[in-house]
Amino acid sequence: MLRHIPQQCYVVQTIKDNYNLPVSIDTTCPHCRRRVNLSLPWDNPKTYVVEHCQAHCPACQKSATLILMTDSTTDKGVRSGNLFITPNDDIRQPLTGVAETNKIEEGLKRAYFSTINVLNAQEWTATTILSRRVLEGITKSVIAEEHKNKNLPTQIRALLTQIDLSKPISTLADAIRQGGTIGAHFDLEKEPNQEIASLMVDLLDDLMEYIFILPGRIQQLHDKMEKLSGTKPVVAPPHAGVSLNGAAKSVKAE
Ligand SMILES: [Zn+2]
Repeated sequence: MLRHIPQQCYVVQTIKDNYNLPVSIDTTCPHCRRRVNLSLPWDNPKTYVVEHCQAHCPACQKSATLILMTDSTTDKGVRSGNLFITPNDDIRQPLTGVAETNKIEEGLKRAYFSTINVLNAQEWTATTILSRRVLEGITKSVIAEEHKNKNLPTQIRALLTQIDLSKPISTLADAIRQGGTIGAHFDLEKEPNQEIASLMVDLLDDLMEYIFILPGRIQQLHDKMEKLSGTKPVVAPPHAGVSLNGAAKSVKAE
């Protein structure tokens, strides 16, 4: 399996043999999981379809194969491609869309990406500390100014009173219902296209995850935390993730 390396990881790119090649990248080594800089020589003959080269990890000295698949050519005939690394591993990727959105401030994005990096580097304590910091960043970006200097549990309570967590779910369910209605009634002017159909299935996935899978994962984490701190686990009602009423009450003081 291949792991995609996004352009944000490119440090240096060079135009060689009519190809815009990433020659220096920052990424997580698939062997030792350290965040390292890899030099990519691209010394094999070009096929202009799929290129490959070997890179050596400066930390563990093991080698990885980099694959570049051509995806576009400029007017001047310079090609560029999508970069992948193999072997793949269970390296955590950031959530799709976080890098691109302008709704998350840069400091919060950096904290989130750092959290992913320390998790991939197997720095467990650092990951828990950074996760808390990201939670604080998320909370602070939503709550009113007057709550920002209070402690985290108070900030979380303020967050729950300030945003309606059930609104995105009802809007999402309504969008899927409307899409289905359009599809069910024959009308040449209003025929669903591929974009609408794919988006609906994506949102269906999100809805199913939120209703059926997320509550279990939250409860699991909660129980493990309770076990670690030596207190009795609290049994959550079924569909705990959906019944948001009273969620503010469950935020404990530290
Ligand atoms: Zn390594």
